[in-house]
Amino acid sequence: AQARYAGIRELPAQSKCGTVTALHMNAGLMADLPSLEGSGAEGVGLFRTELQFLIRSQMPRRGELSALYAQVMDAAKGKRVAFRTLDIGSDKVLPYMKPNDEPNPAMGWRAIRVGLEKPGVLRMQLQALIRAANGRPLTVMFPFVAQLEEFRSARAEFEKAMARERILGHPLPTDVKIGAMLETPSLAFAPDIFFREVDFISIGGNDLKQFFFAADRENERVRRRYDTLNVSVLSFLEQLIARCHAHHTPVSFCGEDAGRPVEAVAFAAMGLRNLSMRPASIGPVKHMLRRLNLDDARGVIHEARERGDQSVRGAINDFLRQQA
Ligand code: PEP
Ligand code: MG
Repeated sequence: AQARYAGIRELPAQSKCGTVTALHMNAGLMADLPSLEGSGAEGVGLFRTELQFLIRSQMPRRGELSALYAQVMDAAKGKRVAFRTLDIGSDKVLPYMKPNDEPNPAMGWRAIRVGLEKPGVLRMQLQALIRAANGRPLTVMFPFVAQLEEFRSARAEFEKAMARERILGHPLPTDVKIGAMLETPSLAFAPDIFFREVDFISIGGNDLKQFFFAADRENERVRRRYDTLNVSVLSFLEQLIARCHAHHTPVSFCGEDAGRPVEAVAFAAMGLRNLSMRPASIGPVKHMLRRLNLDDARGVIHEARERGDQSVRGAINDFLRQQA
């Protein structure tokens, strides 16, 4: 599939209106990194760090993690990698962590909630990332941030780790960016100051969608009822993007939907300028974005919303069929 899009690999995802959408890739293993060149991605928009913890029978040591993160940064050759801190909880149980019997693990003690309440692992991970960067730029994002205070506390953990490394005389990363994943609707309604304090927001559409519609992402039966291109989702995104723009907060989308060409067109038309997806999706999405005028796509979405369509998918599909 990548060969098919090799001709546009080095070209930007520039639409006919001139708008350029930055395309990044999602990764989680060292083995994913070669795709950075193969796909033409501008960087890694989401590096899921869970796998390293899940494939082991005991807690990895800080030194091992630090070596691994350094390898990932080396392989990225100066392109940005957004490391997402551990998103683990009662659904993804670590063999060496006592399982928690919770009725609703997706809404339970997971991700940053664990990181803040039992900060040992988060601290080790942050220290490993800082050491791995070793004077290079560093991007870290926290999963499942639902309110301002959680972001502040998580960022404070990062600052403490930096202070410790400084005292130890280790080289500190430069150009540090600390972001939050927006995976619960609540965060979109956080106080204005959140948008100014956070260095960037990455929309985790997989979780966001399940909490937006109250439909379990693992439950096919209810999941399929709701379309990501439902007008309610678009209204939500529109308001969120407007707040981000008002505060000059960089915003990206890293859920699986970003890798589906029709969804990607809708997101780009709504104003998202940064999408992160599976490497194999970059070619098809770029091809699609280059073919069309996003102003026209925006008009099509507007009309569908005015008509009261439940989803704009049909309208976008019709529009895409009309493209040369
Ligand atoms: C998401 O929820 O959209 C996301 C990117 O995180 P994950 O799929 O790992 O939950
Ligand atoms: Mg998620």
